Amino acid sequence: MRPAARKGAPARNRIVTTRLAAGLVLGALLGCSEHADDAQARPRPNVVLISIDTLRPDHLGCYGHVRETSPALDRLAAQGTRFADVSSTSPWTLPAHATMLTGMYPGSHGVRDQVHRLPDDAVTLAEELRGAGWRTAAVVNSYYVGAPSFRLGQGFEHFDGVPEMADDPATGQRRIVNSGDEVVRKARGRLTQLPAGEPFFLFLHFYDVHTDLTPKAHYRELLVGDYSGALDGSTAQLAALRDRGERLGADDLRWLREMYDAEIRQLDDVLAGFFEWMRAEGLFENTLVVVTSDHGEEYHEHGGLLHGRTQYQEVLAVPLILCGPGVPADHIVEAPVSLVDVVPTVLALVDVDSSTPRDGIDLFAASQPRALFSEANHNVRAAGKLVSDTNCMIRVGDDKLVLDRRTDAVELYDLANDPSEQVDRSAADVARTEELLARLRAFLGAARAPDTIAAPGADAAKTLQAAGYAGSDDE
Ligand SMILES: [Zn+2]
Repeated sequence: MRPAARKGAPARNRIVTTRLAAGLVLGALLGCSEHADDAQARPRPNVVLISIDTLRPDHLGCYGHVRETSPALDRLAAQGTRFADVSSTSPWTLPAHATMLTGMYPGSHGVRDQVHRLPDDAVTLAEELRGAGWRTAAVVNSYYVGAPSFRLGQGFEHFDGVPEMADDPATGQRRIVNSGDEVVRKARGRLTQLPAGEPFFLFLHFYDVHTDLTPKAHYRELLVGDYSGALDGSTAQLAALRDRGERLGADDLRWLREMYDAEIRQLDDVLAGFFEWMRAEGLFENTLVVVTSDHGEEYHEHGGLLHGRTQYQEVLAVPLILCGPGVPADHIVEAPVSLVDVVPTVLALVDVDSSTPRDGIDLFAASQPRALFSEANHNVRAAGKLVSDTNCMIRVGDDKLVLDRRTDAVELYDLANDPSEQVDRSAADVARTEELLARLRAFLGAARAPDTIAAPGADAAKTLQAAGYAGSDDE
């Protein structure tokens, strides 16, 4: 199924895609493709960009997961386009979200660490759409996305926050809780207040599937088996285990993944309710919905836990699903793409011309093979201290090179034949290693000077430590 070209839009050479299984075609016919035929009469579409923090694509049904974690997102993917191979641009929240909202790499937007802010000259998606007549609102769910000091709220008329932490009545401890219901409640309230007849851009950020792992009982019964080990699902405990280099047993890892699945399913039900509400309000029909994430999560694939410190696929791979006006239904794009492409793709789909130079591309336009990058990791331990921005990666086709900037050590992987990155080929393929390393160094050398701000204060530091970012010591 191929939609008609939008009015005034140049003809686009669609990326070669693979048709979904026949069983999904009916859903596609009844879904987003219905938008395509009335493109000329349609008012400008709304945009809803949904970031599900810490969401691994391989834990979603539409990306091949065997457990039923994501019926609502699976339906969305069947009705739209799913990008099968998406890399983030950083393995942690702040730089990756700055990319998601600007279409720039961390080296270009300058937000590489928690002492950097988005500079005034960065042009966000919200600023572009606001300038073109969209109403703009966001509801965000963590310190790194919501704190005014980082300025990710540029361009939003309304930038509401929902705290990620609350006191657990059962234990009295402060925990990272699942606030998806509250994020959606605020979003619905905000959309209801916006003037009818004007298009809106809504950015929703959910922290539910990020640790602490606290799924409701119903979802534990659905997806979590018995467990008698010592883990409690808290970020603090996992961060401490990670920092001590302790190995978890197979049953610990099984339980962690099942708890993660339960949190994904719980949030998927929240999203199902939100989409249903949008349909009932007549808002879904003319809305471009984009679902993605900032990074994944490690379960000892390369010895680590949580995220932020490595550039391997368990942390870098993120989902990307688009559904709505102008989006091909029933399509899967297999080519490697990046989180940096979200902004240019959205702007093209809603026909907003931008003169702002960006690192990303319109994913529905013809493209040449290109390099993808990730950088700006967080809190690697070096000589007893936690230091940032030490490792980075370049990806060209299926070849991926990871560089440790402290030691100049490199690793080269062939993702086609070694998707779990177990066999370092850098010694076996010196020419390719040197070629990719030169391109990566050129990319790093072009980074802008960041806008530096003060380090987070004491209250924020407590929040960050609970979220696993500050390490388990005082450094
Ligand atoms: Zn994150």
